Amino acid sequence: MRTVIKNGRVVTAVDDYNADILIEDGTIAMIGKSIDADADRVIDAKGRLVIPGGIDPHTHMELPFGGTSASDTFETGTRAAAFGGTTTIIDFAVQYKGQTLQEAVDAWHAKADGKTSIDYGFHLICTDFPDERLGEMRRMIDQGVSSFKLFMAYPGVFLVDDGTIYKAMRTAGENGGLICMHAENGVVIDVIVKQAIAAGKTAPKYHALTRPTKAEAEGVHRAIALAEIANTAVYIVHLSCDDALQEVTRARDMGVPAFAETCPQYLFLDYSVYEQPGFEGAKYVMTPPIREKWNQEKLWRGLQFNDLQVVSTDHCPFCFKEQKELGKDDFSKIPNGGPGVENRMSLVYNGGVASGRISVNRFVEIVSTNPAKIFGLFPKKGTIAVGSDADIVIFDPNEEFTISAKSHHMNVDYSCYEGWKVKGATKTVLSRGELVIDEGKYVGRTGYGSFLKRGLAFSPR
Ligand SMILES: [Zn+2]
Repeated sequence: MRTVIKNGRVVTAVDDYNADILIEDGTIAMIGKSIDADADRVIDAKGRLVIPGGIDPHTHMELPFGGTSASDTFETGTRAAAFGGTTTIIDFAVQYKGQTLQEAVDAWHAKADGKTSIDYGFHLICTDFPDERLGEMRRMIDQGVSSFKLFMAYPGVFLVDDGTIYKAMRTAGENGGLICMHAENGVVIDVIVKQAIAAGKTAPKYHALTRPTKAEAEGVHRAIALAEIANTAVYIVHLSCDDALQEVTRARDMGVPAFAETCPQYLFLDYSVYEQPGFEGAKYVMTPPIREKWNQEKLWRGLQFNDLQVVSTDHCPFCFKEQKELGKDDFSKIPNGGPGVENRMSLVYNGGVASGRISVNRFVEIVSTNPAKIFGLFPKKGTIAVGSDADIVIFDPNEEFTISAKSHHMNVDYSCYEGWKVKGATKTVLSRGELVIDEGKYVGRTGYGSFLKRGLAFSPR
């Protein structure tokens, strides 16, 4: 099977030029000024950007949480991702107490196998990590699960203590793995939450008011300090605010290998979403919460100056009806999470490139190339180069469209960006050379996507 993409403007993290691309057997075979090879399919990309497929390294498809499950399955969630120009997700498998790491990964394979439209990998959330399990980490890395997430939040559910974090960091570092950290002082937050509930403060906005930015900054500081002691790198997930960013910036200025991602909800939404009437604020109950508006420009600055390297989504949707309503009388019972996997590329293009904050190269870098490099997928994924997988998005930088739950493809009954007009639209998407989205229409296949056995996670040491 040979495909030629003609007349496009090829943009990677470093290049920007007009060229044709020849795809053979799922990989990029040739890039040239004018390719006249016999092809089974010719795609005209005139006037459009030809960019590497998006990589969203933070999703939670069908995650069990708070007595319910995230409403997107691997089937619906990966289809929606493709509509939005994302061709790879890295989802979080969860080890529950008493399980081996292998049992946890096997359970996630069972959920995803044969269900996805695009390729996928797994990180592994470790919740139960006695010394005898440390050796298992090496085996997970050998199986392509080379990153692990630990929680400083959610005592009794996900939280692990500092000693465990330190041991996991050492083991991961010695074996080429990477620890991803949910950095928030969950023990203190739990006290504040209980006091709020006892005082009758039960509305959704108290989710935000009980999770101070300092609690996040303290977690980030501690995570980085523990990584330094363990002589390894650390990756901070879903960084939401300037207080936390300052900790990452300070560490990086000192030469510490600390990495961090933020998410569109922290770049585009602000605390006022919780002040909407009735129960509306529940739509935005996610952790960390949406912060005061002034943090947004600080986060953009972090992206501009590489103190933040990645924009992921933390896609974890729960329907407003019935699911979010579990917390109607108590914000602490609202399932934490929101939808986003379909909107990331257009939102970041619109708010970043079209608004003049970042270059188009930097856009590609933070939504595709950096996640590929940090999580052991580069150069198979994350760039357009001879030999790389032909995961390619043909993107119209000028088309404007309106985001709405009425037209999105995520299996959830609301959008955090309802009615927003954005510039920059995914038109056509190829995964390993096969069309998944053709001019906005789904032409892919459930079960096409395959599990990505990732290489060693990035470590500069
Ligand atoms: Zn998450």
